[in-house]
Amino acid sequence: MGLSARIKTVEPIQVAWQRDDPPGRRSAIVRITTEDGVVGYGEASPMQGGLHSLGIIERDLTPGLIGADPFDQAVLHDRLYHRNIKLGPEGALTGALAAVDIALWDIKGKLLGLPVYKLLGGAWRTEIPFYASIGGNAARTVDETVRVVESRWKAETPAAIKIRRDGDRSRLDLDIPGDLAKARAVRALVGDDYPLAFDANNGYSVGGAIRVGRALEELGYIWFEEPVQHYDVRGMGEVAQRLDITVSAAEQTYTQQALVDMIRAGVRMVQPDIVKMGGITGLMQCAAVCYAHGVELVPHQTQPTIAHAANLHVLATLMHLTKPAEYADPSGRMDPGFPVAPRPENGRFTVSDRPGLGIEVDEAELSSRL
Ligand code: CA
Repeated sequence: MGLSARIKTVEPIQVAWQRDDPPGRRSAIVRITTEDGVVGYGEASPMQGGLHSLGIIERDLTPGLIGADPFDQAVLHDRLYHRNIKLGPEGALTGALAAVDIALWDIKGKLLGLPVYKLLGGAWRTEIPFYASIGGNAARTVDETVRVVESRWKAETPAAIKIRRDGDRSRLDLDIPGDLAKARAVRALVGDDYPLAFDANNGYSVGGAIRVGRALEELGYIWFEEPVQHYDVRGMGEVAQRLDITVSAAEQTYTQQALVDMIRAGVRMVQPDIVKMGGITGLMQCAAVCYAHGVELVPHQTQPTIAHAANLHVLATLMHLTKPAEYADPSGRMDPGFPVAPRPENGRFTVSDRPGLGIEVDEAELSSRL
């Protein structure tokens, strides 16, 4: 094995973990293999099954990757971004670039025999607490919400809990009294001092958001996520500036420039996602932007295997880690494909010190689910 290994194959694959998985439950993975047989894995955002990003990898990125040196990953990233920018610099293209970037970091680590966090400059910590991210609550009653929260709270002993509305984004301020009843009931369940967050999933008008935010302040919630539509950057900033509670946004932000726009609007906690905007390289650039602006970086992250491992490597390297890592899917449904992947223990994840991302893939299991 030599450090001069060139990229030989790039394989975008969509994995359905159950036969009837809807697109959003599937994984969009890229497998990159060097001439020496070193394999790296990356992952794109699974929105709509990730097929758009996988198609961009296949048609538009692969020709620029075959024969390239994995250690040129940052040059490849910027070259392929600008070569394909008219596909739209936000969304499917940045998801595709993220997957390739994560796979190339995995390869670099394996070639050097070092974990990714060492290549990024070293870890401030390798034990990272997580928060339970609990979605789908707009469709639940107050009692159902409390039951779901209680079961994850007891099973996982998370460092914090976030409840997400996940409602219809085309209708604003649909049931503010109902949302607040759930926020109150969850506070009553966990007691006054336990850290809670509330994710509006873009469900409110500016006025509605301020009303909800004031109530969350009274209830001692520690952050209020994406109160208004993500594309209303000015409105997001207005809500952030008028409330005392920390308002977070930017999980649907795909470029460094758009991240700066969100910060300039007044948002003081941002949540870019490693599978949506630039992979490990992109998230490290976000870290520099946040450090320069004095803004909290708390990455969004919902995929339990490759992306989660990549995200943990980045979190390990951040000097200011102010909130726990997101943990959204404790089902274990992808475990057969990943014999070694980050698993929670006592409310924490341990960042792997194995070479690369530190995950192990069961190729036969993946192949059986294509
Ligand atoms: Ca969110």
